[in-house]
Formats: sequence, C-alpha cells, structure tokens
Amino acid sequence: MIDLHLHTTASDGEFTPSKVVEIAVDRGMKAISITDHDTVDGLLEAKKRADELNLKLIYGIELSSDWQGKEVHILGYFLDLEDENFKKHLENIKKDRNKRNEKILEKLAKYRIDISMKELEEEAGGEIVSRTHIANLMMNKGYVYSRAEIFRRYLGSSGIAYVPKGNVTPMDAVRMLKDNGAIVSIAHPKFITESIEKLEGLIRDLKEVGLDAIETYYSTFSLKEVIAYKKIATKYDLLLTGGSDYHGSNKGRIEIGDGNVPYEVYEELFKLKNK
Ligand code: AMP
Ligand code: MN
Ligand code: MN
Ligand code: MN
Repeated sequence: MIDLHLHTTASDGEFTPSKVVEIAVDRGMKAISITDHDTVDGLLEAKKRADELNLKLIYGIELSSDWQGKEVHILGYFLDLEDENFKKHLENIKKDRNKRNEKILEKLAKYRIDISMKELEEEAGGEIVSRTHIANLMMNKGYVYSRAEIFRRYLGSSGIAYVPKGNVTPMDAVRMLKDNGAIVSIAHPKFITESIEKLEGLIRDLKEVGLDAIETYYSTFSLKEVIAYKKIATKYDLLLTGGSDYHGSNKGRIEIGDGNVPYEVYEELFKLKNK
C-alpha cells in the first residue's frame, strides 16, 4: 500500500514531517507523498527521514483554488524544489492567505470571538496558517465545542465568517504545477461537486492545461465511488492517484493508509514522470 495525500505541521497536519514519515513506515507504507497545502516547506525534512527509513517519498503539494465559488484542490507530484518561479508563486499565495486570515479574524471579532494574528501564527507554528488553526483556537478557548460545528456555523463556505480565497483558479494551479514539471492530479473530486457532468466539464478544461490524473482512491470514498472515478479516468485518459488526506487529530478519524491505494499507482506515476 501507498499513501499520496498527507499533511504535516508545515500546513495544517498535527505531526511534523519526520513523524509523519515514521508513522507511514509503522503502518507499512511502501511509498508516500507529503502534500501540504500551498507549501513545500516540510519536504526536505521528510525526505531526510524517509531516506533513513528506506521509504520512497514523492515531493508533493496540494494547491488551493476557487472555481465558481467552490473550492478545488490540485495535487502536484515529483516537484522541482529548485524552481525559483514556483517559489515566487507560493510566496504570493502565502501573502494572500495571511490577508484572508486577517479578514476572517475581523469577522469573528464581530461575533465576540477574539483571536489575534499573533496567537494564530503561534498555533499554526509552520509555514501555512489555515482555517484549521483558527478552528483549533476556537475550540481551545472554549467558544465552540466541535470542529464540525465551527465549519458549519463560522468558517465553512456557508458560515458567517467565511472569506473566499478567490485569486487562484484551478487552471492557474494546474499551469503553475506543469510549469514546474510536476505530475498533476485533481484532489477528492467528490467534494468539488456531486454532479458528474459538472466535474467532467472541469476535467475537460483542466486536461487542456495539462491535468494528468484524478484522485480516485481516498479515505472516505466508497467502492462505488472509486469505480465511478476510475471510469472517468479511463474516459479522459488520466492516471489514478490516491491517499488518505491524513491530518492527525486536525481532521476526523483518518489514519495513514486509509485510502487503500495499491502500489501500482506509484509505478504508473513514476513511469509517466520518467517518460
Ligand atoms: P484553508 O486552507 O485555510 O482554506 O483551510 C481549509 C482546511 O480546513 C482544510 O484543508 C481542512 O483541513 C479544514 N476543513 C475544511 N472544512 C472542514 C470541515 N468541515 N471540518 C473539518 N475541517 C475542515
Ligand atoms: Mn487541511
Ligand atoms: Mn483538500
Ligand atoms: Mn489534503
């Protein structure tokens, strides 16, 4: 088994990159990718530990984007970490994120939920500060009891403190990754839209700018869903990717390996990368 969708403290995961690698080895993974939101900051640390433990590690990332008011996440694999242009893009994305976080905190303050940027940065600890960290603080300070409720009432797309990111489209994200030389997959398609027609429309547009794969295996997909996404992959000549979307306790009850991703997925991606 492999797991190509994992988060660390570099974004909103609970554990450090080294620790995530160690857990992956304990859980019998043969290859993994670390795919933190909008940052490559954890990758070198992960690589060092993976080499020590003889685990195959793909440099990955999960870029956030907006599409018709919906969030679309784009995964990139086999990243070139030396690419200066790509680094500049990530720097800009981080700045936009910080501006957005300030706006979210301003909205929360109107509802007497007081969190400062300084507290938030401390809670995040790593390179990327996200709504996950805001939710953690809201729970720690006793404002709201559960994460699900926080996203439903406050931070989620229908919540009263929602602020869209709004400046990167899925097409931009795919282009950014293709320019880097990465292999690109569309993450957890089920959460973009339940409409297969709409999804296929998006996939056709993304194919034009270089989409390579679709995340077919995922911790919370049913077998029926896996089969449906395999069908789409065949129809649009896309490779398969998959993973758990592990965040430790920062997201549900998901363990590393929960995507049940077969090793062949790694081999196929590797083949494409080295073509
Ligand atoms: P951001 O990148 O700042 O937009 O924050 C998004 C992150 O919040 C996602 O990557 C998830 O880890 C987390 N998240 C989003 N929606 C939910 C939810 N309904 N329940 C728990 N975590 C969520
Ligand atoms: Mn996350
Ligand atoms: Mn995602
Ligand atoms: Mn993810």
